[in-house]
Amino acid sequence: WAKSSGGNAYAFYDGPVAERAQRRHRLQNLLRQALAERELHLHYQPRVDLLTRRISGWEALLRWDSPQEGAVSPGEFIPVAEKCGLILEIGDWVLQEAMSQYARWIGMGLNPGTMAVNVSPRQLRRPDFARRIAALMERYGVAADQLELEITETALMEDVPVATRVLNELSGMGVSLSVDDFGTGYSSLGYLRSFPLDRLKIDRTFVTQLGSDRHHEAIAQAIIVLAHSLGLTVVAEGVETELQLRYLVLNDCEEVQGFLFSRPLPVAECERILRDDRPLGVRGIAGI
Ligand code: C2E
Ligand code: MG
Ligand code: MG
Ligand code: MG
Repeated sequence: WAKSSGGNAYAFYDGPVAERAQRRHRLQNLLRQALAERELHLHYQPRVDLLTRRISGWEALLRWDSPQEGAVSPGEFIPVAEKCGLILEIGDWVLQEAMSQYARWIGMGLNPGTMAVNVSPRQLRRPDFARRIAALMERYGVAADQLELEITETALMEDVPVATRVLNELSGMGVSLSVDDFGTGYSSLGYLRSFPLDRLKIDRTFVTQLGSDRHHEAIAQAIIVLAHSLGLTVVAEGVETELQLRYLVLNDCEEVQGFLFSRPLPVAECERILRDDRPLGVRGIAGI
């Protein structure tokens, strides 16, 4: 413990802060090998159309099983990768893996809908980002309208000129674009309107309290109305209960993702669901 002579005030904070910095540093070093050692893989979470209860697409979500650290959540290691620049290599791998998986599903005669991939701010700032996407689509035979890219509200607003340029390029190619984690950042509505977006994903924070907290309900409702006035399809993230679902249906939300229908799943389970080719029941894939 530092500062033992200068009073205890800091001692309480130094420990955890130093530990966190140490862990970030350790993760950064381990991440460098993770790609080469095949420790990263993707899970896929279905997005469900509320009108048909069918799967309209899948979101690729990164998973890391580190031999040293065990399972590390992307919420923890993505920011580390973003900070040290490794996100570029990792992001390339994710795009490649998600598109090749998509192509395999099409090749198997399955009907997966679209494939959504999360894109981090640093990837977006690459001058050749759109060209890279085009090259991957060509390589895997993925059509532009089968691919969606998710960009957080914060990333969009962080550098509006760059976002405008890249989004226009991607949209011009026919790729769908979603604003992720909407409601957690600070959007200029003028800019939001100027981006060529297709979908808006309401952050889980607001969805969690639907049916129990009137303020969050009001926010969710306002977000849906706003999105529709901008011509965007609304996806609610993190739907876990029937109560939340009912609220979203009543307020004209078009699509949901969440544990109520399915967690993010490994490939084999996705394929089982896709072969079933039925509307998704809540809590699992069996009944309707
Ligand atoms: P996100 O893109 O907003 O993804 C949604 C997160 O919510 C995922 O967490 C998903 O597992 C979780 N989720 C979905 N439904 C529910 C639910 O009903 N309840 C709860 N409690 N959680 C639910 P995950 O997989 O841990 O990913 C966290 C974040 O990490 C993602 O948020 C995204 O920002 C980032 N991330 C994940 N994979 C990638 C990637 O390949 N590239 C980049 N740049 N970021 C990624
Ligand atoms: Mg996402
Ligand atoms: Mg999100
Ligand atoms: Mg989120």
